[in-house]
Amino acid sequence: MKFWPSSLISRYTEWLHGQWYGGTVERLPEVGPLGATRFSRVRIAGDLLGIPLLKFASQTGAQVVNEFAEQGFFWTVPPPGMQEMVIIGGGVSGSAAALEAKLLGLKVRLLETGVPLATLANFQVGKPIFTFPTNMVPKSALVIEGNTKETLLASLQKQLSDKGVVFEQKRVSHLTYARDHVVVHIEGEKEPILAKTVVIAVGRSGNFRRLNVPGEDLGKVTNRLHDPNDYKGKKVLVVGGGDSACEAVITMAKAGADIWMAVRGRDLSRSKADLAEEVERLIPGKLLFETRVKEITETEVTLIKSDGLEFPIENDNVFTLIGREPHREFLRKSRLPIAFEWGLTRWLSFLTAFLTVAFIYMWKSEGSWVANAFAQREWFPAPSTIDPNDIIAWFGKWFSYKGSGYGPFRIVGEIFAKNVHSPGFYYELLYTIIILIFGIKRIFKHNTPYITRQTLSLVLIQTIPLFLLPYLILPLMEHWGWFKSGPGLWIADQLFPIPEEGAPREFWRSVGFIFAWPLFIWNAFTAAPLKLWLAIGAFQTFVLIPLLIRRYGKGVYCGWICSCGAMAETLGDAHRAKMPHGPFWNKFNMVGQVILAFAFALLFLRVGSWILIGWQGEASPIGSAFQRWFEYWAIEAKPFGIPLNYSTFVDFFLSGIVGVGLYFHFSGRTWCRFLCPLAALMNIYARFSRFRIFADKKKCISCNGCTSICHQGIDVMNFANKGQPMQDPQCVRCSACVTVCPTGVLSFGYLDSSGNPVLDKILASPTQIRELKLKNGGKKS
Ligand SMILES: Cc1cc2nc3c(=O)[nH]c(=O)nc-3n(C[C@H](O)[C@H](O)[C@H](O)COP(=O)(O)OP(=O)(O)OC[C@H]3O[C@@H](n4cnc5c(N)ncnc54)[C@H](O)[C@@H]3O)c2cc1C
Ligand code: SF4
Ligand code: SF4
Repeated sequence: MKFWPSSLISRYTEWLHGQWYGGTVERLPEVGPLGATRFSRVRIAGDLLGIPLLKFASQTGAQVVNEFAEQGFFWTVPPPGMQEMVIIGGGVSGSAAALEAKLLGLKVRLLETGVPLATLANFQVGKPIFTFPTNMVPKSALVIEGNTKETLLASLQKQLSDKGVVFEQKRVSHLTYARDHVVVHIEGEKEPILAKTVVIAVGRSGNFRRLNVPGEDLGKVTNRLHDPNDYKGKKVLVVGGGDSACEAVITMAKAGADIWMAVRGRDLSRSKADLAEEVERLIPGKLLFETRVKEITETEVTLIKSDGLEFPIENDNVFTLIGREPHREFLRKSRLPIAFEWGLTRWLSFLTAFLTVAFIYMWKSEGSWVANAFAQREWFPAPSTIDPNDIIAWFGKWFSYKGSGYGPFRIVGEIFAKNVHSPGFYYELLYTIIILIFGIKRIFKHNTPYITRQTLSLVLIQTIPLFLLPYLILPLMEHWGWFKSGPGLWIADQLFPIPEEGAPREFWRSVGFIFAWPLFIWNAFTAAPLKLWLAIGAFQTFVLIPLLIRRYGKGVYCGWICSCGAMAETLGDAHRAKMPHGPFWNKFNMVGQVILAFAFALLFLRVGSWILIGWQGEASPIGSAFQRWFEYWAIEAKPFGIPLNYSTFVDFFLSGIVGVGLYFHFSGRTWCRFLCPLAALMNIYARFSRFRIFADKKKCISCNGCTSICHQGIDVMNFANKGQPMQDPQCVRCSACVTVCPTGVLSFGYLDSSGNPVLDKILASPTQIRELKLKNGGKKS
């Protein structure tokens, strides 16, 4: 039997984080909007962008060509011997790009290593074609029509030959780059092709993944199914749990084969829901989950279950349909970064980003060695060298009333001028400006009612209560005499005390109106209790936030209010997909619980010392011990020289430096997901929330787009393709999954008191908005 505290902890971990799905994300190339890569003349289209659908392949192929044209790459006639465009890959996407280029009259070459439209040509005979999203009309001249492999292929071939699109059989090995063109290297050829622009449309069909078991190279093992009728009456094992595997099972079972299916995972979540259901119906009892192949012989296959149980089955043929590696070698050799791959360049860029953030954060933090060094030496940009009068004069000049220099804005200048010696002021100013600029960019980029409102909320909260209130509004109120007497004085003394004679009021405490304990601890962990702040803080943390979370989920705070979230949703918008996923990383979700426990222990010591010393005086032995322990663990502790006290380790190092330092390489939500103690507390509240992300399972094509984009590491797809409402407490309601879903599967909402789903009124899915517009004849609602 387990030691009871450890069993309690594992049950708690399972209840809070362990029970949710933990699928991983495929390593695709890192791309910007419209397939942009780090080289402006090279763009990626089709399956490599992450959505494996014919309509998207066609649309993205056409889009990149138009994007190149709009950017003016083809204004001048290319020198002799140079192509205006080379397209690598003659699949749907490459063909759509070639057709678009032809229509624009460009000098283009289309290179294909196999037969034209090779991926489609390799589909099994009679394979049904699904044209998701059904009401999407791709912005491409290449029309996707036909409901079987054969009709689709015939239609595409006709459209391409009618417009004179020519395929050249060549395999591209890699790309190199010159200042004004790209060099396309062909396998087995000495002369490369020079091109002004290159479209990479090589799909995801790289090398087939291998089982790496004895017998895998026997002739009866294959990864291509051409004609299911060839297997009538045969004993066949299909290995894999994705669409291809399910389709192979269905067609062979219908053709009269005796099928077993071995799936490594716990279910068929990697496949479309209707395919999975049909498989379950067709081969009941022969669909084996958590099962791997141990060995293959001429007449048998030995399977092994996750509990170690081995058993042989009779067998004539094996299909290993466990996917293919994307063309990583080609991408690596062409110096195109692949998500989650860490080479020397990435390490160097990570270290540079991390150290820069650490430097800036230390520069702004009073008492750090960087801040001290700057204060002593007055190096640039030492704020202490700035003359406040210059600021006042600047405001007077630019905002003066009728040129008098004494307009209403002069006082604003005077107030801001008081902060010119404080690095923290510049840090907050920069923080606010970044959120404002990237917030506007996010609104324009995604343009859904949900994102517009959410981003406006984040920008306004950062600008008004978190920046203008402490630096301008409260000082102005003081200037106008609001805090001189009466209730104004009482409130100011309670909330913004003067720490010592002659010192300014502590207006910085006003951030406590937004930052709740234990995200912001300094209004609670004071030498003497600040009673009004304690009341406000207790109400926020233990009443208001839980009530809001009950209805709207944790995202009500993390996604709509908090400034850490504001930065992650704006500056971090382009970095979402960098959050690591999977069971290994999910274990770190519990780190926040440890920090939360630390914060609660300090709260206990702090409040305990106030009560005991208040009651028994300084002589109280327990009260003074609490006081000493509190001060030690909150501020002083440095075992072995490592500053493990809360103030330095959590508040300064983890929240300030690590949180922002990991931004550009691990997404903007590392602090929020793994470390923030308030998020850890809200995760507990969120377990009782009625908020859900509902899924229309029929529409889900298991493309994994939603999971890949989630910067909280949630495996959204696994909920969606089973039609289960997503209730992982980590969700911050950013709406990225809802926005990215190509078929409009996902919707925010909540369960009403009878457990029925109620969808939110603010629309977040562009696909649903489009569908609604179509239905309403052009109007949104
Ligand atoms: C089994 C299966 C079933 C599917 N069913 C459906 C469905 O029903 N509905 C749907 O919408 N989608 C379906 N899809 C997805 C659809 O096929 C893809 O989205 C689409 O084919 C992607 O087009 P693409 O041009 O990006 O890539 P591909 O069609 O894979 O084309 C890439 C081409 O690049 C070539 N190439 C690769 N490397 C090089 C190189 N180095 N040099 C030159 N050429 C190169 C390849 O030979 C290939 O022809 C299915 C996919 C599979 C595998
Ligand atoms: S589940 Fe969706 S809304 Fe929630 S955090 Fe992840 S991407 Fe954002
Ligand atoms: S919910 Fe949408 S994005 Fe997620 S897997 Fe399904 S289709 Fe793809």
